[in-house]
Amino acid sequence: MTNETENRQQSDEETLSSEGGAPVREEKVHQLDEAGSSTGAATHVVGKRKDYLEWYDFFMSAAYCASLRSKDPSTQVGACIVNRKNRIVALGYNGMPNGCSDDSLPWNRTADDQLNTKYPYVCHAEMNAILNKTTFDLADCTCFVLLFPCNECAKLIIQAGITKVVYISDKYHDKFEFRASRKLFQMAGVELVQYTPKQKKIVIDFDKIPL
Ligand SMILES: [Zn+2]
Repeated sequence: MTNETENRQQSDEETLSSEGGAPVREEKVHQLDEAGSSTGAATHVVGKRKDYLEWYDFFMSAAYCASLRSKDPSTQVGACIVNRKNRIVALGYNGMPNGCSDDSLPWNRTADDQLNTKYPYVCHAEMNAILNKTTFDLADCTCFVLLFPCNECAKLIIQAGITKVVYISDKYHDKFEFRASRKLFQMAGVELVQYTPKQKKIVIDFDKIPL
């Protein structure tokens, strides 16, 4: 069994940090005796919410939300980079470089001339996240990304010092660029985890927020 296979089987083990372990809040229920004075005898324990998002689902949701910004009609990818304290330090999605109009450049996947496809121009989500980081460096960070990184992004991830990649889709597993990225990650010792979110559907309904 390869390391990667093992990693795929590993679920969200909360390796970034534990779930906090905040103390359960207790509410004293003061009971009145017949004379009307408080005895403070009973204690009613209020537990925490059970359906909160787990860390991995949260970070993957952030990556997914970032992907919604992509103008690419065929592939929308988001990346979310997290440090060891579970802080998000970078977000990115695939798009054309700054100052290069995404109305003027092509979004085609195929064309007679490669220059008329999107490939020479688009910045991938991982690249944008790394370049848009809000921290000094990304050493020992984890990159959550919807799609397994290509070889160009693998180089950036490795050079940035990111030591773990958590991804959902591996649909290009056998393509040249992805075989190359896998090779680089393995050589550099980057941990690879294919993750299946525990919460399959997360609905954002702004109408639920009271005005
Ligand atoms: Zn890439």
